[in-house]
Amino acid sequence: MKTLTQLHFDNRFARLGDTFSTKVQPQPMSEPKLVVASEAAMALLDLDPAEAEQPLFTELFSGHKLWSTAEPRAMVYSGHQFGVYNPQLGDGRGLLLGEVRNQAGEYWDLHLKGAGLTPYSRMGDGRAVLRSSIREFLASEHLHALGIPSSRALCVTGSSEPVYRERQERGAMLLRLAPSHVRFGHFEFFYYTRQHEALRQLLDHVLACHFPKCLEEAEPERAFFTRVVERTAEMIARWQAYGFCHGVMNTDNMSILGITFDFGPYAFLDDFDARHVCNHSDHGGRYSFENQVPIAHWNLAALAQALSPFIAVEKLREAMALFLPRYESVWLDLMRQRLGLRTEQDVDKPLVQELLQLMQTSAIDYTRFFRELGDSAPAQALRRLREDFLDLPGFDAWAERYRQRSELEGIAQEARQAQMHAVNPKYILRNYLAQQVIEAAEQGDYGPVRELHQVLSRPFDEQPDMQRYAERPPEWGKHLQISCSS
Ligand code: AMP
Ligand code: MG
Repeated sequence: MKTLTQLHFDNRFARLGDTFSTKVQPQPMSEPKLVVASEAAMALLDLDPAEAEQPLFTELFSGHKLWSTAEPRAMVYSGHQFGVYNPQLGDGRGLLLGEVRNQAGEYWDLHLKGAGLTPYSRMGDGRAVLRSSIREFLASEHLHALGIPSSRALCVTGSSEPVYRERQERGAMLLRLAPSHVRFGHFEFFYYTRQHEALRQLLDHVLACHFPKCLEEAEPERAFFTRVVERTAEMIARWQAYGFCHGVMNTDNMSILGITFDFGPYAFLDDFDARHVCNHSDHGGRYSFENQVPIAHWNLAALAQALSPFIAVEKLREAMALFLPRYESVWLDLMRQRLGLRTEQDVDKPLVQELLQLMQTSAIDYTRFFRELGDSAPAQALRRLREDFLDLPGFDAWAERYRQRSELEGIAQEARQAQMHAVNPKYILRNYLAQQVIEAAEQGDYGPVRELHQVLSRPFDEQPDMQRYAERPPEWGKHLQISCSS
């Protein structure tokens, strides 16, 4: 276990130089306070959990102090936003403080979001508000606990600093961890500005630091793009299986590592709705829940374009063609598991698809359905769940097929329940729960956000005192649309 002062920095991205990022010092926030910290994320840096209690912790993560070996920098990138190319984005309010190498030899980027103005701030103020920082914190750590690859969050610090959005709010900072902050948009920036040497340098950096296995292959660049396609397909399959809606799948918000990245107005589905749009500003529904699959493919095509100086078009196409099959197979596998099916049968795919159709028509709670399906033996669970469906003949036909299909598994209920509960969360980060803890935090009460974080970090476990977090959402909480401003 280490103390804060013992972290070992080795800033590989900073060493790429000024073509890729600009030196910027964090601008401290007034009267910083620790809102919430993640012990699991601290462990990634080998940090003793007691360090969160030290004044230094809050000083470091509110921009007041800095390690002498950190090298804070704002990265430059561009990207396609809602399908339109924006030639100049970059870290407008976040800084890569540096890279920490832990005892296991893993590297973690320390990125401080809300750290003040940078050369890429455009019209923005360089700040983040408490509300959006808490939302990103909760989602990052919860997705990880659900087994969905994501950037991580070490802590949120609040302050008395006024920040102006639709109303006056308080400024906050989030310390984000990820093995890399390189986005699809990094490659697009150097491609569209015709800086092919820099593009090559970026690719070499990413290969050496994050895809070293690809360097052993005959065509490392092609192997790299293939891996990005596969990882992205696997991530999207997990989003779809667990009802996660990202909300702003612009190419600048897509991680090269295939991890969930840059949280905005995201949502986990309450009632199942394939067409759900969680982003208040997404009028055309480009980033609706069901569109996440074709949009990920679209985004990969944008990355392919940026890599075209180094990989032949046919090879890019071959790699792109892996996306849908990979997505489908991971998704179907997860859905089978969610239904308590371990063997593979031809009927499984239509069985899942028809269930989703029935859930859509009857607005069934997506998380509770699967959990309850495992609570008791199929016939009994189905009898209980039937009460929530409107299309009863449709449900009965499906239930009979499911019951018969389950019998083929030949597994005792006790084992079935254990298997199903291990993949079907009891607790999910519902928008209304986030909203409630945000309102408390805005009044200076951080107890609720800390408790919610604890509950959501063990989403599959029964937590008898925490039953209220597993209830159905109230009507007002079901259709909250979240604004993009953060
Ligand atoms: P996002 O929608 O958060 O992914 O951000 C898109 C772009 O806008 C990125 O380049 C951000 O750094 C920048 N940005 C967002 N909010 C702010 C802000 N308050 N101040 C400066 N830049 C911002
Ligand atoms: Mg972004």
